[in-house]
Parts: sequence; C-alpha cells; structure tokens
Amino acid sequence: MTTYAFLLDIGRCIGCQACVAACKTGNEVPEGRQYIRIVEQTRGTFPNLRGSFQNLRCYHCADAACVTVCPTGALYKEEGLTRLDREKCSGCTYCVDACPYDVPVLADDGRSSKCDGCAAVVKAGGTPWCVKTCPSHALLYDERPKILAEAHRRAAALKMRYPNAQVYGETEAGGLGVVLVLPDDPMALGLPANPNVPLSLTAWQKALQPASLGLTGLSIAFTGLAAVIARRNHLQEVRTLEARNSTGQPTPEAQETKDQ
Ligand code: SF4
Ligand code: SF4
Ligand code: SF4
Repeated sequence: MTTYAFLLDIGRCIGCQACVAACKTGNEVPEGRQYIRIVEQTRGTFPNLRGSFQNLRCYHCADAACVTVCPTGALYKEEGLTRLDREKCSGCTYCVDACPYDVPVLADDGRSSKCDGCAAVVKAGGTPWCVKTCPSHALLYDERPKILAEAHRRAAALKMRYPNAQVYGETEAGGLGVVLVLPDDPMALGLPANPNVPLSLTAWQKALQPASLGLTGLSIAFTGLAAVIARRNHLQEVRTLEARNSTGQPTPEAQETKDQ
C-alpha cells in the first residue's frame, strides 16, 4: 500500500503563519481552534543565539498512541496518515492524554479535534492547504519514500551551517507521517527523543479495554438475572396469598401485589 507523508523543513520555515491561515480557512476550522501553531524558538547564549520556528501539529505517527487508545475507532490510520472521524468521537479524552506531542484537544462540541491530513482535499486530487500555501517550500507532500529522500538531501545541505542538523521522524513512533528536517537536536527544539507508545497503553488496548467491556457485559447479565429472580419471588408471594384465601379468590393484598 502506498503511504504518504509531509516534509516539514524547520531550516526553511520563516514563521509567516500562511499555513496556519490556509488550514483554518480551507478546512473551515471554527474560531478558537487551529491545527497548526507556530512557535518561535531561541537557543544558545548571547551573543551566540540561534533562532527557528517550530510547527506544532499532528505528526501522524505510524504507531499512533491516539489510535491505540481510541475506544470508538474515531481515530484510525489511512495511507500512512492519522485520520479523525469526528462523528464517532465520544469525547472520552483518551487521545488527549495519550499523544506524546500534546496534539488533540476537545473542541467546544466535546469532540476531539486535530489535523486529518486534509483527507477530503487529497481524496479529491488536491494538495493539503498548508503545503499549497507555504512560500518557502518548508512543507511538501508526497509518497513517503520520496519525502524521506528529500529530507536527507536537505539535512545534509543544512549540516554545512548547523552541524547537528538531522532528519527526525524516520523511525520515531514507528515512523512519522510528518518527516522533519531539524537544524539541531530534537530535545533542543522541544521534541521528544523517544515518542514511542508506552507499553501501558498497548496493554490497555490489548487486554484491559476488552476486559472492561467484558465486565460491562457481565454486569448487564447479572442485572438481567437479578430481575428474573425478583419477578419469580414476586409471583411466588402472590400464589401464597391466593392459597390463604379460603374462597379461592385473590385477597385484596394479592391482587394489589399481582398488579405491580
Ligand atoms: S502526533 Fe499525536 S495526534 Fe498525531 S498521530 Fe501521533 S499520537 Fe496521534
Ligand atoms: S494537512 Fe490540512 S488539516 Fe493538516 S495542517 Fe495542513 S492544512 Fe491543516
Ligand atoms: S507557511 Fe511555511 S514558512 Fe510560513 S509558517 Fe508555515 S511552514 Fe513556516
């Protein structure tokens, strides 16, 4: 299956926010929400300061913690990207807590909200809004192997100015759907060096979640059984009261109990 990815070249980002605006208007993202945040970063000590702009956005992890914990299937993988079907979201906030990049947020309607890789635009044959608008070609979108090759080419060129320049996302979290070209170490740029899905989350999905669903089923079964026993006891009580009536007619108490 062909997988796709974004290239995000931090060495080329000029912080113009054109991607932010294009994403918001193109996807009609409601006021107060946005799928990309541009943050200015300064590193080093005076007078040897270096600056860059970080794009905080969904990085479309292959081993996506959000997908792992989502109990309704609202979050899912498609062609290498992490899609979100908001109609299926129950607002449980598991994805909000699980994402190593703090990406999903609950919108005003109580449902998760994040970049879905412009699924509708791409399926119609278009280019994601953010990529189409970026004036410095810091963003690209293509088949993942081509994006990886371009990322390594750019990182090698960037090393001439920044010795720590590197590609981030080739293997992290199973391989990101947004491959970054960084001018410095990931940690220096606020990115986790090892954003893999914690074992506890994998255990949650594979064992605890089905077990909790099983317990819910058992609870429903026991409630049903208790109702059957209560009804049987109730009828037994009616028969006893009827037997005490010498005329064979139900006593007023029995008739009242039977009608309940
Ligand atoms: S960055 Fe967060 S929201 Fe995006 S795919 Fe990874 S875990 Fe999910
Ligand atoms: S891919 Fe689309 S939804 Fe995602 S950040 Fe870019 S413009 Fe926004
Ligand atoms: S449009 Fe391109 S250059 Fe401008 S902030 Fe977004 S990624 Fe950076």
